[in-house]
Amino acid sequence: MERMGKKEYQARYREKNRERMREYQRQVRLSVRKAVFDHYGRECARCGYDDERALQIDHIADNGAEERASLGGKSFSGWRFYKHLVKLEYPSGYQTLCANCNNIKQHMYLTEKRLSGIIEA
Ligand SMILES: [Zn+2]
Repeated sequence: MERMGKKEYQARYREKNRERMREYQRQVRLSVRKAVFDHYGRECARCGYDDERALQIDHIADNGAEERASLGGKSFSGWRFYKHLVKLEYPSGYQTLCANCNNIKQHMYLTEKRLSGIIEA
């Protein structure tokens, strides 16, 4: 077997570490997500659906957009948002919803907003 050159060795080392870092980040994200759903529940508050892949944290008061804007814009979502909840020690005002119920709730909220705008105008 040929001896590995220094450059090649360094390149391989970086590649290895990149994978390790990626895996580490993945583990952190998973554990943050787990902690959040341990607290807010592992099933949808509306329909009881419990496939974790489809569970999301819902802002009960429908102020998600405003909150994201105040906390740093659109990038403040997903696991960054979960990390924020852990840091604040699980504030109230949030619940677990499945993707379907969350979408339906959002749709109803927007429809109501639109209708009230039409009626009030
Ligand atoms: Zn649901």
